[in-house]
Amino acid sequence: MENKDVKKLGELSKEYMQFETPEVFTWCGDCGNYGIQNALKRALALEGLGRQDVVFCYDVGCNGNGSDKIEGYTIHGLHGRVLSLAAGCKLANTKQKVIAAAGDGATFSEGPQHLIHAVRNNYPMVFIFHNNENYGLTTGQASALSPCGSHRNGTPGEVTIPPLNPLQFVLSLGATFVARAFSGEVSNLTEVLRDAINHDGFAFVEVLQACPTYNKETPDEWYAARVKDVRELANYDRADIWQARKLVEDVGDDFYLGILYEDKNRVSFMGTQKYRDGVSTELVEEVKHYDISEFLKDL
Ligand code: SF4
Repeated sequence: MENKDVKKLGELSKEYMQFETPEVFTWCGDCGNYGIQNALKRALALEGLGRQDVVFCYDVGCNGNGSDKIEGYTIHGLHGRVLSLAAGCKLANTKQKVIAAAGDGATFSEGPQHLIHAVRNNYPMVFIFHNNENYGLTTGQASALSPCGSHRNGTPGEVTIPPLNPLQFVLSLGATFVARAFSGEVSNLTEVLRDAINHDGFAFVEVLQACPTYNKETPDEWYAARVKDVRELANYDRADIWQARKLVEDVGDDFYLGILYEDKNRVSFMGTQKYRDGVSTELVEEVKHYDISEFLKDL
């Protein structure tokens, strides 16, 4: 697969440049966050979305520090809670695209309950799951996804507890869109994000991400030697959940990238809210002011 064409992709159209900010990036050199941010802006530009069309919701973590590095409506929430914020944004105004991002620590230690219910409710949003297998912002402690035998700050010797399998987990919950990408392959990630943006439901996109500062065991080169395109698999049917579950279980030496599973038949959360049929306003437009002074005067 191609490339590390991050720089080349920067030149660009006004559609891309509208998401640029003058803020100084604080990520380490060669951090995978650059490629992910770049791919996100590209995907939005290619989908014809303006910065007024999208709400970006960021969790705490190195990726979360991208919240002021993209121009648009952004929320930087509490650790592990980004999906509940994102769900609120979507329910308040269904016309907005909602894109949430969090790392492996936030998603699978502080906030798995929010992931469970975001998947179960099939909220129509994109979730970019940054997986660099450690807590980068707090100097490289082990997360629930650090592999056995890996070395992390704060863990004497080596990691000995088996990691969770994130894609197996979300597939077991009945996810309707599950994809995997790699931060070093920006074009591929861009295409995955475009499909995720167009999915009518909860789109879970795992991004295998290099953290060259604290995870020296799986740098870009390590991933680059192991990633493959799922479209190269003969007879792979991304509508077949059992093929997807087998693929993500049998990791072996290969990481298959692309859309691994997609269910186009299940309606999203909005489609289940029949009481809203025929209502032309958004919830955010229905907010009313109530004068409660009468109730408070005797207190
Ligand atoms: Fe990126 Fe790791 Fe540096 Fe954080 S610590 S900015 S994840 S390279």
